[in-house]
Amino acid sequence: MEIVEVKGKVFRKFITREKIDQVVNTLAGRINSDYAGENPLLIGVLNGAFIFAADLIRKMEIPCQISFVKYASYTGTQSSKKVTELIGLNEEIKGRHILVVEDIVDSGITMDHLLKELHKYRPLSVRLACFCLKPDAFVKDFSIDYLGMEIPNDFVVGYGLDYDGYGRNLPEIYKLEN
Ligand code: 5GP
Repeated sequence: MEIVEVKGKVFRKFITREKIDQVVNTLAGRINSDYAGENPLLIGVLNGAFIFAADLIRKMEIPCQISFVKYASYTGTQSSKKVTELIGLNEEIKGRHILVVEDIVDSGITMDHLLKELHKYRPLSVRLACFCLKPDAFVKDFSIDYLGMEIPNDFVVGYGLDYDGYGRNLPEIYKLEN
């Protein structure tokens, strides 16, 4: 489908399934080789990253574990610039190689907060795998070790990303039609 409607808003196809698969394969290849001989703990950021994390972990050829945290900084299609912790961490972080898995970094406020929190638990290392980044919205300065792609500053849905809770099930990524 080229055009979809999610809760009354119109979205146009933006990133195809083929492109998504290619991005995931490339990132997974790099992660597998960088973490060879290690046993990282992947931390997916709910809700949006659940599909990317599921795709990525099935390409992991190293022993690894996965856990999820849930933060929120978005209401509707606008970043609220405030981060609230909803679900915290249960796993032992100390002494582990942590790979945070995120679907999208926009302003970077949510991720900056999470990365700072994680460092308090004294991990061996913390790296970030992110499917896409909106460089024009990014206001922080952390680096993204495994970045799938850069996208313009438009609101997107699909592949785990929602508009007001809907649209996560779309297998491809769609951009809000202006
Ligand atoms: P940030 O704190 O970087 O501004 O926002 C990060 C979070 O906002 C992401 O984890 C994601 O859940 C949500 N987000 C940012 N941009 C978009 C977007 O274009 N579409 C959707 N559906 N969510 C977004």
